[in-house]
Amino acid sequence: MTPPVITYRPHHFLCSLGFQGKGYSDGFTANMSRIVVDTLRAPGGDDTLIEVTGVTDDICAPCPKRRGTLCTEQEKISALDMRHARALGLFDGTRITWAEAKRRIVKRVPPGSLQTLCQGCQWLELGLCEQALADLHSGS
Ligand code: SF4
Repeated sequence: MTPPVITYRPHHFLCSLGFQGKGYSDGFTANMSRIVVDTLRAPGGDDTLIEVTGVTDDICAPCPKRRGTLCTEQEKISALDMRHARALGLFDGTRITWAEAKRRIVKRVPPGSLQTLCQGCQWLELGLCEQALADLHSGS
């Protein structure tokens, strides 16, 4: 059976790298855990195919801030997506595996760059995403 393809907006690749069980609601966190912990980080998860979208994606689906295919903080989210898409070389419709996504992060997103890339994100100051980025670069 062909594995399902996950849809991701550009900034959710790095969010998935740094995810530590925090989210905007219980439903949001449970859904993101299912995708990130039970799929991407599970054995064989590196082969998961992810298709890039310019609108709301599989992570956004149960988010309390989602309004159709948009977000209550659309301006901020669009800016985040634009910076992450440019950094990772992602376009609407690009399909890559999670392994390839991590290779691109290592190649194109140096440690310390989230202060700029993720400007405006409420989770940035926790430092979890920067730590995950540093760990990926160091191979731990
Ligand atoms: S700081 Fe925010 S936008 Fe950046 S990777 Fe973490 S959760 Fe995603």
